[in-house]
Amino acid sequence: MPFKDSISKIAKSVEGSAKYVAKKSGDMVEITKLGREIASQEGKIKNLYYELGRLFYERYGGEKDFDKDISDICVQINEKYKIILGIKEKIASLKGMKICPRCGQELDIKIAYCPMCGTKQEMAEEVIGVQDRDVKVDENKELEKECEKDNASDESNEHGDG
Ligand SMILES: [Zn+2]
Repeated sequence: MPFKDSISKIAKSVEGSAKYVAKKSGDMVEITKLGREIASQEGKIKNLYYELGRLFYERYGGEKDFDKDISDICVQINEKYKIILGIKEKIASLKGMKICPRCGQELDIKIAYCPMCGTKQEMAEEVIGVQDRDVKVDENKELEKECEKDNASDESNEHGDG
């Protein structure tokens, strides 16, 4: 093989591989870019899943007729919220404050109504569980209804008599 030919062959081959390397590194940049785009879209999907779960929990978290897997997660979320509320109450009591059981707002211990949500606050002596209080409220409502009925019939009787 003449020396000149072999030189030009080598040159061509170098040129070729350089082009290949250039193309390859261009592709690599492009692939990295596309990979980042996938990661970005996946991040957005993750946020949407979060939002979907949050909305679902807020709207249907209390219902028990759902798929067991879904209710289990809702129950777990509930438990975590209860733990957080307990911790918030601890922190508040360390500061001489209390936590509104409805909205979680930190309040002065002497405040009777939450300025954020208007919920009547239990005073220090009569602090009872949220659930117990809800039941009591319902009972009171029912009692009120019955009282109203009684009053209404009493009044009609009175009117009838008078
Ligand atoms: Zn509140």
